[in-house]
Amino acid sequence: MPVYRDAGFELFDAETTKNAFSKETENERIPELYIYSRYRNPTVVAAEEEIMRLESCRWALLTQSGMSAIDTAVSVFQRAELSGPWLFFSEIYGGTISYTESVLRKRRGLQIHNFYPVNDKYDLNEFESVIRDLKPELIYIEAISNPMLIVTDVGEVIRLANKSGARVIVDNTFATPLLCRPLELEADIVIHSATKYFSGHGNITAGVLCGNDTAILKDAIEYRKFVGHMLSPDDAYRLQTQIQTFELRFRKQCQNTLRIVEILKNHPVIRKVWYPGLPEHPTHSEALKLFGQRGFGAMVTFDFAGKSENDKKRRRDIFVSSVSDKIKIIPSLGDPKTILMPVESVWGAKYPEPGLIRLSVGFEDSSELEKTIYEALKQAE
Ligand code: PLP
Repeated sequence: MPVYRDAGFELFDAETTKNAFSKETENERIPELYIYSRYRNPTVVAAEEEIMRLESCRWALLTQSGMSAIDTAVSVFQRAELSGPWLFFSEIYGGTISYTESVLRKRRGLQIHNFYPVNDKYDLNEFESVIRDLKPELIYIEAISNPMLIVTDVGEVIRLANKSGARVIVDNTFATPLLCRPLELEADIVIHSATKYFSGHGNITAGVLCGNDTAILKDAIEYRKFVGHMLSPDDAYRLQTQIQTFELRFRKQCQNTLRIVEILKNHPVIRKVWYPGLPEHPTHSEALKLFGQRGFGAMVTFDFAGKSENDKKRRRDIFVSSVSDKIKIIPSLGDPKTILMPVESVWGAKYPEPGLIRLSVGFEDSSELEKTIYEALKQAE
């Protein structure tokens, strides 16, 4: 696929130009004539087709970041005349929560509500009664949450939402289409931060929204165009190349994670491991229901044992510095190499436990990785 870097495309004569502009809003995913790269671009369309294959959906629209995909997805359902509440599950990406507060609530004046889990699990009976009373127009969930990896029963949430007439957006970034495809469960829109597993090399910032409904597609194309959320052709080209190895990479990342989980859960300096594949994880049954035998993802969170907060913190710091040659603190996920985040340093207001670490497991050689972790745990004893 060539990289079409052109900002504008040649339209040849006045009649063609008139036709191109007047028909632009009638076009669905692929325009009859390309006009301007902020509207549509052939290289971006090629990358979108790779994602459609992965999510098995009728359309995908790429944006400059995961956040611009989220902004496009929710804005499609916003109308001046609609003023009903929107319900966001509370355990979603912190940036999305900040966006709902500072953009949707403070600036756009929307009624934003949150639905909270109890003991790291969403109670869907409670959810049913909340939506019966609240009657939200839109419900927003993540398939796997950050950092406690709570799995949402996506199919059941969508079923209950449909019954009450609400639209559903699912952020599928952590689960990826290899574990679940919410559009097959009748979600209205699925979004991804393509910065993560789709790009997979920590070198592209991008987002995507996917769906099957043509009316939503048209609104989303219009919003992306007017707000200017379109991905650049160079990034689309690199994404289109890198995404071809997504399945290989993610499978290996899930396999590596299982091995790391095995080491962590049997080690005396570790108090607890959160991984949806473990029977003791609060949403293990939701994970089995949603993912079947396909895997449980490539993120794992764990906590150090200790008699006091200082003890835990000391162990965490020894671990972080012992692995630092091989496992860096990088505030992202889905990279080729394993990277980590000290949870309390970033999400301390919500997760103050000083021993918590979140790992995004890479696709590097697993024996090297196991050795690095094993040795660091030994140092922390
Ligand atoms: N959704 C999830 C689950 C994320 O983890 C992130 C970023 O970390 C985003 C959305 C936002 O994506 P981006 O950073 O590409 O804008």
